[in-house]
Order: sequence, then C-alpha cells, then structure tokens
Amino acid sequence: MATILLAGGAGYIGSHTAVELLDSGYDVIIADNFANSSPEAVRRIEKITGKNVKLYELDIKDADKLAEVFAENKIDAVIHFAGLKAVGESVEKPVMYYRNNIDTTLSLLENMSRFGVKNIIFSSSATVYGEENKVPYTEEMKRGVCTNPYGWTKVMMEQIFEDAAKADKELSVVLLRYFNPIGAHESGMIGEDPQGIPNNLMPYVSQVAVGRRECLTIFGNDYPTHDGTCTRDYIHVVDLAKGHVKAIDYILSHNGVEIFNLGTGTPYSVTEIVDTFEKVNGIKVNHVYGARRAGDLAECYANADKALKVLGWKTEKTLEDMCRDSWNWQKNNPNGYNK
Ligand code: NAD
Ligand code: UDP
Repeated sequence: MATILLAGGAGYIGSHTAVELLDSGYDVIIADNFANSSPEAVRRIEKITGKNVKLYELDIKDADKLAEVFAENKIDAVIHFAGLKAVGESVEKPVMYYRNNIDTTLSLLENMSRFGVKNIIFSSSATVYGEENKVPYTEEMKRGVCTNPYGWTKVMMEQIFEDAAKADKELSVVLLRYFNPIGAHESGMIGEDPQGIPNNLMPYVSQVAVGRRECLTIFGNDYPTHDGTCTRDYIHVVDLAKGHVKAIDYILSHNGVEIFNLGTGTPYSVTEIVDTFEKVNGIKVNHVYGARRAGDLAECYANADKALKVLGWKTEKTLEDMCRDSWNWQKNNPNGYNK
C-alpha cells in the first residue's frame, strides 16, 4: 500500500486524516514542528488505529532537514497541512505568515522534485473565494480578493501549485478548499486543541461549556441572513478527513491540477450552532451578541457537487453529530492534550 507523508499531520485536520488513511490501509509518516500541536496527538492516532506512525519533529521550512525524510522513505504522496491559520494573528504578523506558509510549500515542492515524488494534496480554504463571488461557491470561480494575509497565503500557494504543475506534466496536485471543519473523532481521543484564546467558533463554544471561558460573544446579529447572524458551511472533521482518503485514491492515478470544495453545501447560522450544541449536549453556553468582527462575510457555503461527481465523496454526518463530538472531545480533554 502507498505511503503518505502528512506535513503538519499532528494538527487538528491532519490527525483525523491520519486515522482515516491508516484505517484504509495506507502507511502514514508525520512531519511536524508542533508549532500548534502536540506529540500526544500522534500517540493517540496510534492508539485509535492500533498502527504505527513514523514521526519526524522538524520545521518543514528547513528544506535540508526535510530532505532526510524523503531520503529515508519511499513516499508516494504528500498532504500539506503545515500552515499557520489564525486570521487575526496573520494581520498582526504578516511576514511570519508569508514566511511560514509559503516556505513550507516551496520546501515540499523542492524536495518532491529532487526525490521524484509526483503527488501532493494541499489544504486550501474557502477563503480564496474572497468577497466578490456569490454563494454557493463553485470551483471554477476566479479566486477573489482576500481581507487578510492568511487568506492571501492560500491564494498564492494555489498559484504556486498551478505553476509547478504547468511546468512538470507528471506532477499531480489536488487543491482541497475546506469550509468550516468542526467536531472530533467519535472516540473523543483527538480533536481541536487551539493554543490560547480560540479564534474559531466551535472551540470557543465548547470552552465556554466546559467552564474555561466565561461567555461567548456572537459577532453581529444584523447581517442579511435569516436570523441576523453569519452563516457558514460547517463540516464534520471526520467527513473532511475521509475526503482526503478519496483525494489520495484519485491523485495516485491522475495528473494535473484539480480543485475540490469540501463542504456540506448547507449553511447554518452562529445562533443555530449555539442552540444545537445546547440541545444535543444538554448544557448551557453563556452568550451575548456583540459587534461584527472585521472581515467576516455574511454567508459562506459550498456547492459540493464536484467532489461527489469526481471523487464519489459526500458528507455523512449531521450538525448534531458535529456538536456532540466536539463536546465529547472537550469534556474528556478539558485542557486539550495537556491533560
Ligand atoms: P493545525 O494548526 O491544527 O495544524 C497545522 C499543523 O501544522 C500543526 O500541527 C502545526 O504544528 C504544523 N506546522 C505549522 N507550521 C509548520 C512548520 N513550519 N513545520 C512543521 N509543521 C508546521 O491546523 P488545522 O486546522 O489542522 O489546519 C490544517 C491546514 O488546513 C492548514 O494549512 C490550514 O490553514 C488549513 N485550513 C484549516 C481550516 C480550519 O478551519 N481548521 C480551514 C481551511 C483551511
Ligand atoms: N464567531 C462568533 N464568535 C466567536 C467566534 C466566531 O460569533 O467567538 C462567528 C464568526 O463571526 C463567524 C462564525 O462564527 O460568523 C465562524 O467563525 P470562525 O472564526 O469559526 O470561522 P470563519 O470566520 O473562518 O468562517
């Protein structure tokens, strides 16, 4: 069976993808510097699957160190999760974001070229649709204008991959545009473990529920949506992880660049998330309505038809599953991987 290198594989989406790949019979190597994750996640991947994961602690930007991973292993495909992802932080530290996100990409592509590895899947984002495109987003829409450096790194990296594939006809690239991953593995052993104050909605909701934070602020209730709060296409992280397995199956037998939205196609509002979380888990989430957050779009959701048609992938889990599994992870690990 093929061997897949997960760059940034100890993180939230990478760890869930590792489990699904191992369960599907693939061998998995993880390279991560734990900038936003913990080696404990890798131990838990092994516990869930009963399989071994080869782990390299390294900075992917360091192309020479990364070369050792390629030299020591026969890698069939790479999945590139290794990026910094906090939108607000990217506004404050743009150079750090451009350096990390773009250099990791270049370092991977250089080593792939040097060692003859021809397949790479990249963690892109719905953010590349920018402000101009209308929902639901479809893959052939032009990339838009982003409101922050994080988004621009995704736009730039998509361009870098397209240029690399144009120059090397044997290179196969899949750009996966994720919508809003939430939830956790049903075992409750791996999940999202943000450092410091969470930026994203679901970790904030579950940290309020578990008593780590006082109160959730819902950013704006005067948007032109059915209840005034923003809507997003929330996708269970296990469904998202399974999308990567389908993309690996696909990439091993195709050349060129393909883009896929990975979303459910169904938007839910912030208020619906909070209400569903409270209902399925029987727990209160203190919340207040506050001002809009700069840069937020009123609506963001996918047209997910292409992934179904080409990859045979669609989401299976409900919003109730997402809220239940997020809470199961949080209540079993109130302080994340730090016990
Ligand atoms: P995460 O922070 O949990 O995982 C990223 C992993 O990459 C972490 O383990 C981190 O330590 C590692 N990493 C970062 N820089 C590195 C470097 N220079 N060298 C080695 N390892 C490095 O984030 P995630 O939510 O799992 O996201 C994975 C990818 O998906 C990211 O590229 C992110 O931008 C993208 N994405 C995430 C979301 C989301 O909402 N979570 C949405 C769209 C796209
Ligand atoms: N949100 C919120 N309070 C928070 C965090 C997020 O009301 O503490 C809202 C945010 O305004 C957006 C939605 O929740 O409408 C999803 O935000 P998140 O940051 O999780 O994802 P993204 O903005 O990338 O879609």
